[in-house]
Amino acid sequence: MAVERTLAIIKPDAVKRGLTGDILSRIHAAKFQIVAIKSVQLSRTEAEGFYAVHRERPFFGELVEFMSSGKSVPMVLEAEGAIAKWRETMGATDPAKAASGTIRKELGTSIQFNCTHGSDAPQTAAFEISYFFAGSELS
Ligand code: ATP
Ligand code: MG
Repeated sequence: MAVERTLAIIKPDAVKRGLTGDILSRIHAAKFQIVAIKSVQLSRTEAEGFYAVHRERPFFGELVEFMSSGKSVPMVLEAEGAIAKWRETMGATDPAKAASGTIRKELGTSIQFNCTHGSDAPQTAAFEISYFFAGSELS
């Protein structure tokens, strides 16, 4: 399997609840390399741009409000098959449906407040990484 990079975000619900350290420990335990990491508060416009694929969905307004509501922690994770591996580590979008042991099952509180984001394909990973990180931050 090829070494890949994916974009992960610790979302504002998890940062506000003091779960950043817990989630970073799970990332280390799952043997991802953290290539780059920062703490940011997205503007509404930045959140809209990041989730533009969802702009027609009924929850888009709430999602933008939520993602711009406080600090979040975007990071670039590297591992063999990192994109699928990180989505497995997070679990299903809805914490109620996520497998036991996953971040969303153990820490998420609703389909919206599900603690973490992960890219879903190589093209989206490339777009999402470049949304937060310059090339000089990724060597
Ligand atoms: P993410 O893209 O954040 O990793 P995902 O790929 O598992 O999550 P998407 O379908 O891309 O799920 O949805 C993006 C985000 O929108 C979800 O993580 C969640 O925060 C929010 N969301 C999804 N469905 C709903 C819903 N029905 N109601 C409210 N918020 C939702
Ligand atoms: Mg998604």
